[in-house]
Amino acid sequence: MSFEEKLIQCSDCGNTFTFSAEEQEFFASKGYTNDPKRCPSCRQARRSQRYGDGDYNYRPRRQMFPVVCAECGKETEVPFEPREGRPVYCSECYSKNKQRE
Ligand SMILES: [Zn+2]
Ligand SMILES: [Zn+2]
Repeated sequence: MSFEEKLIQCSDCGNTFTFSAEEQEFFASKGYTNDPKRCPSCRQARRSQRYGDGDYNYRPRRQMFPVVCAECGKETEVPFEPREGRPVYCSECYSKNKQRE
């Protein structure tokens, strides 16, 4: 099955946009059977509307855990879950300790 470029009119802004063969292939590989109704910029706008403002679907790239530095007592955050019994250091003390070794 081969795909041919299609011209589709956006249902939001009325602009005509190209639904390229590659995009169609991508859509098909995702199991989508319907053509997109909106141009890429309207799709983008809707997406940022839906996922903006700390929506529950929004996931930060990595979770930070609040910890207290075992050396200087400063409150800081680390990108891993601190284990009990293991000292956690702020970035300053961490690099100091590293140099000492
Ligand atoms: Zn549009
Ligand atoms: Zn520290």
